Amino acid sequence: MDISYIINELAEDRENYFNAIAPPIIQSSNFAFKTVDEMRSAFADESSTYLYSRGLNPTVDILRKKLAALDNAEDCLVFNSGAAAIFAAVLANVKSGDHIVSVNKPYTWAQKMFNVILPRFGVTTSYIDGTEIENFERAILPNTTVIYLESPNSWDYAIQDLKAVAELAKSEDIVTIIDNSYCTPIYQRPIDFGIDLTLQSATKYIGGHSDTVAGVLSGSSTMIKRIFNSEYMNIGSGISPFNAWLLIRGLRTLPMRLERITQTTQQVIKYLQQHEKVETVLFPFDESFPQYQLARQQMLGACGLLTFIIKADTVDLIEKFCNNLRHILMAVSWGGHESLIIPKCSGMSATHFNPLNKDHRMLRLYVGLEEGEYIIKDLEQAFLLI
Ligand SMILES: *Cc1c(COP(=O)(O)O)cnc(C)c1O
Repeated sequence: MDISYIINELAEDRENYFNAIAPPIIQSSNFAFKTVDEMRSAFADESSTYLYSRGLNPTVDILRKKLAALDNAEDCLVFNSGAAAIFAAVLANVKSGDHIVSVNKPYTWAQKMFNVILPRFGVTTSYIDGTEIENFERAILPNTTVIYLESPNSWDYAIQDLKAVAELAKSEDIVTIIDNSYCTPIYQRPIDFGIDLTLQSATKYIGGHSDTVAGVLSGSSTMIKRIFNSEYMNIGSGISPFNAWLLIRGLRTLPMRLERITQTTQQVIKYLQQHEKVETVLFPFDESFPQYQLARQQMLGACGLLTFIIKADTVDLIEKFCNNLRHILMAVSWGGHESLIIPKCSGMSATHFNPLNKDHRMLRLYVGLEEGEYIIKDLEQAFLLI
């Protein structure tokens, strides 16, 4: 389907709300029925009737239809965080005694779910290097019910061969789930490769303005309906009508924001690659990236997030570099208007810093909507101080 149509028109029945261009925020917790019979049929299937906004809500519905279409999925659910989307997707596909195969270093809160919560219910997880399909084959056990992917990873951009993993999983009757936050459906559509469930943190590019926390989970109507009637309703972490409205607004400019960021990212990468204080730049669409071919095969684009390894003998130098940035903000998350940076060493005790370990010298940069020159100048003045 045409992306412009999805973003501008799909699911917007303007004649139902005074031909308003921007859809209304239906800020109502509940919906009334005229007859007992109507109420009875709503109770029988809450997934298709407006009854209570923890379930369906008309503003959220507009957003759902657009996001599902972008993913090329039959349906989707929108949560009040990406973490909730991850939790619901995994919980819906495991029971006590089951086993999960996950790629190494998935998003922090996915890891905490695998390591802390799920073992309490007898669900175990094996982590593998997902860059080789053989590693998946070796890790699958008779009780494996879920393969959990994140492609690319949001620090080192390791990717998985989505088509190969989907084929393997189907042959073993295993559900595949992918965290697609890095690409968004504009740059990668995992459902097209046979992945069952694709999710993303909509906090990042979909919202796009660093003002809303949200998550999306897309898949077949059958799977999504099953999750709606159980985990979604039970966890009760559906998105609010107002936040859904903000995401609809964010979607209007999503393709052009990505286009702009894609161009600026190239400019920033060129600058970093020629800098004497930069050892390496990690970026999936850079020819030097070890999985460059595969990235080009399955991703339509890459932008915004990149990691560079700085040359520094001490943690103080890295700290000095970051502390002196004037415009690039030091903060988590990404996908908004503003450029951001996180030094890996902020997640560890400074006394454990080892300059021989490249990971300790990683800085993750998010390129926002500013002019490329503005970002580069800021990096330049901070490099001059170290
Ligand atoms: C931010 C993020 C999440 C979690 O999303 P929230 O909206 O913060 O809950 C999941 N995966 C990745 C890769 C992320 O960057």
